[in-house]
Amino acid sequence: MNQQGTALIVVDVQNGFTPGGQLAVSDADLIIPLINRLAGQFEHVVLTQDWHPADHISFAENHVGKQPFETIDLDYGVQVLWPSHCVQGTHDAAFHPDLNISHAQLVIRKGIHTHIDSYSAFMEADQKTPTGLTGYLREHGITTVYVVGIATDFCVAWTAIDACKFGFNTFVIEDATGAIDLNVSLQQAWGDMQAAGVQRVLSEVILNP
Ligand code: ZN
Repeated sequence: MNQQGTALIVVDVQNGFTPGGQLAVSDADLIIPLINRLAGQFEHVVLTQDWHPADHISFAENHVGKQPFETIDLDYGVQVLWPSHCVQGTHDAAFHPDLNISHAQLVIRKGIHTHIDSYSAFMEADQKTPTGLTGYLREHGITTVYVVGIATDFCVAWTAIDACKFGFNTFVIEDATGAIDLNVSLQQAWGDMQAAGVQRVLSEVILNP
């Protein structure tokens, strides 16, 4: 493919989100070989890594009487409470061992602040705290991004929607993503992405142009 001005963003391919992890997404490990092949087509690859302190606000166990997958209202909006996952420095937070993209230049760690979650690789959930990814992409002359990874309906969707918001021509490669699908969240996420201008493609567009 023509790589001029194009980058691949690989979202949260970590032990915590794959079978055996604290917030495992069914079969999410099966997309990793495809992600590795796709990455081979891109000069610019960015990896994201969910990377929480143990007292993170998104963990149900840090809220008295709350269970995973319940929601709470925070200053910045509704927060889903998750099982504790991807705690900084743990095996759960490490990249999945099958992920093999050694030429990736940048790793964006997100959700690092105790009081703010961050599904998006661009902007934390308060919609005020940037991660620095926009500046990185602009300084490298990137105008088009492709997004893959986990989970389609949370971190992939929020990342893709923010990419559109910040002016990037944005594609999600559907068969290289894995979804949680909590209460029809997957269907809703595709609706939100399409409304924002995210384009939905399959990997063959990249691999067999
Ligand atoms: Zn998280």
